[in-house]
Amino acid sequence: MADILRLQGIRKRYGGGASPVVEVLHGIDLTLAPGAFAALVGPSGSGKSTLLNLIGLLETPSAGEVWLAGEPVHTASDAARTALRNRCLGFVFQFHHLLPAFSAEENVLMPALAGRGRLSADDRRRARALLERTGLAPYAHKRPMQLSGGQQQRVAIVRALMNRPRLVLADEPTGNLDSHTAQEVFDLLRELNREEGTAFLIVTHDPGLAARCDQQFHLQDGQLVGVDEATGPQR
Ligand code: ADP
Ligand code: MG
Repeated sequence: MADILRLQGIRKRYGGGASPVVEVLHGIDLTLAPGAFAALVGPSGSGKSTLLNLIGLLETPSAGEVWLAGEPVHTASDAARTALRNRCLGFVFQFHHLLPAFSAEENVLMPALAGRGRLSADDRRRARALLERTGLAPYAHKRPMQLSGGQQQRVAIVRALMNRPRLVLADEPTGNLDSHTAQEVFDLLRELNREEGTAFLIVTHDPGLAARCDQQFHLQDGQLVGVDEATGPQR
């Protein structure tokens, strides 16, 4: 099967015009297999979020190639990129970014609505099943403000999985949680990775959590300086 993600020679520069040009990614090569569970680690400012935003088609590389699920993204039109993002990718951020005026269930349904313009009975069943699976069914009709931080982040994770993405990009998904809740949320990512076969690329500052991933990509000063592959079974 094709790699779910392939990066070749990715460079990213900012600036130009009046401001000096700064290159923050200096030629990144990286591949992820379908169903991978990988950590992206590195010091603050090393380029982790920039790399994730490039993979997430939120930014374009200054040079290099991005292939998602076997499709070349670097040559795709804006419309094709938007379609691919909605169909293939899920996002989880440090802060949940749930829409405050909508219930947990409505937030979870949002990617389906955004992708197809209307909701099917299947969409509603999928949202229900995911909320039940993650222990959130009792909170389905609550607004984000009425939920704990851990519950909010679980809703955001469920939302990311709604459209059955091939790859979920998570930027410090547990960064705003206490360590016990962070463990629980991380466990949920791992379980959903196994159950749904979704690949995950997770930026984390927590070495303990990173060590529980199957792969660790180490970024330093905009360069990939090493990849650790887990040998035995994880956890
Ligand atoms: P990390 O997520 O690892 O902390 P980032 O990807 O956020 O790192 O940032 C990497 C480097 O790129 C930093 O030096 C940051 O200041 C710079 N950078 C990020 N975004 C921009 C931007 N829009 N314009 C200019 N520089 C940026
Ligand atoms: Mg960052």
